[in-house]
Amino acid sequence: MATKARVIVAPPDAPMQVVETELPAPGPGMVVVEQFASGICHSQLHQLHRARREGLLLGHESTGRVVAVGAGVGHVAVGDTVLVTWVPRSPAAAASWSGGVALDLPGGRAATADCFTWATHTLVHEQLVVRADAGIAPDVTSIIGCAVMTGAGAVLHTADVQAGQSVAVFGVGGVGLSAIAAARVRGAELVIAVDLDDEKLAFARRFGATHGVNARAGDPVEQIRAITREYYGAGRPERYEGLGFRGMPIEGVDVALDCIGLKVTMEQIVPATRPGRFGVNQGGVAVLVGVPSTTVELDASHMLLTEKSFRGSIGGSCTPDVDFPEFLAWHADGRLPLDELVTARFRLDEVNEACAALERGEISGRAIFELA
Ligand SMILES: [Zn+2]
Repeated sequence: MATKARVIVAPPDAPMQVVETELPAPGPGMVVVEQFASGICHSQLHQLHRARREGLLLGHESTGRVVAVGAGVGHVAVGDTVLVTWVPRSPAAAASWSGGVALDLPGGRAATADCFTWATHTLVHEQLVVRADAGIAPDVTSIIGCAVMTGAGAVLHTADVQAGQSVAVFGVGGVGLSAIAAARVRGAELVIAVDLDDEKLAFARRFGATHGVNARAGDPVEQIRAITREYYGAGRPERYEGLGFRGMPIEGVDVALDCIGLKVTMEQIVPATRPGRFGVNQGGVAVLVGVPSTTVELDASHMLLTEKSFRGSIGGSCTPDVDFPEFLAWHADGRLPLDELVTARFRLDEVNEACAALERGEISGRAIFELA
C-alpha cells in the first residue's frame, strides 16, 4: 500500500519546498518509516551548494516507527521503533545495499537520494534502519544516525582513544560535542575544545571539555601546546614522563580531531598532536572528521621523524547495529546529554530558515525537524 508523505525537495534552481507525495509500497529489502524527528546536518548544506540537474531529497538521520516492510526484511517489523542512518548497519549484510531511492513527484518531476529523512515518512533500505527500544526519546535520538555516530565513532573506532589520553576537538557543533562526550566516556582526562566563540567553548564544557581554546585569541596550536606542556609537566599522567626528546618538554595532544574540514583546521591538527620519540612510542593521531573541500599541505619529514599520523574518519567507522545501542545507553544514563545537544527545533515548512540559520553559524549544537 502506498503511504502519503510530505517530503522536502530541493529543486536545482529554487528554494526548498515541502511536496505532498505518495511513497510506493516497499519493494524487496525496503522499509517505510513514519518519522518523529530528523537532524539537520552540514552535509546537507554541502549537497545544496553543489550544482545539480534534478531535485534533491535530503536528510540522513532520524527516529521513527516502521509502518511497512518489503520482502526479505527480517530485523524490523511494523510497529518497531527505529533509527535511520546513512551507514550500513552491519558489515555482514552491507553488500546487499545497492544504493538509493528515486521518487516520482507531482508535476512529472523526479528526485533521488541514498537516504532522505527530511520528510514525514521515508522509504529506505533495511541496511540503513537500526532497531531501537520503544521507550527511547522520539526527538533527540534522531541525531544519533549522523552527528553522534560521526563524532563519537571517530573517538571510539578511528582514534581508539584510551583512558588517560589527551584529546583536542576542533569545531564544537553536534559532531564535535559528541566527540567530546565520547572522549570522556573513554576516560580521556584532558579534553580541549577549539572554536571561534567563547559561548560555544563554555557550552562544550557541559559535554566534558576540560579546556577551551578560542582560535580568534591566537594560534590554537600554540595554545594547545601551552596547555599540554603544563599538564604533562605537572607529572600526570606518569606515562608522559621522560618522553620529551633531547630535553624538550613534551607538548601536543595524543589525538586531535578536525570536525570542520577547512584547510586551516586540517593543517592545524597535525602540529597540535604530540610528537613520538623513536624507540619509545609513536606520535599522536590527527583525525579528519569534517567534510573537506580542498587539499592540504603537511610536513612529511616532520611526520616521519615524529611518527604522527593523519587519518580520515567517515561515519565514525561505526557499525550502527553495534554502536547505536551503546549511544542510546549513554543517553539514558546521562553520559551523552542529547537533550542539551539539540539546541534548535524547526517545522518541516521552515526548512529554508533552518538551513540559513545553520549556514550563519547560529546553531550551537544540532538542530532538528520535529515531524510527528
Ligand atoms: Zn550528516
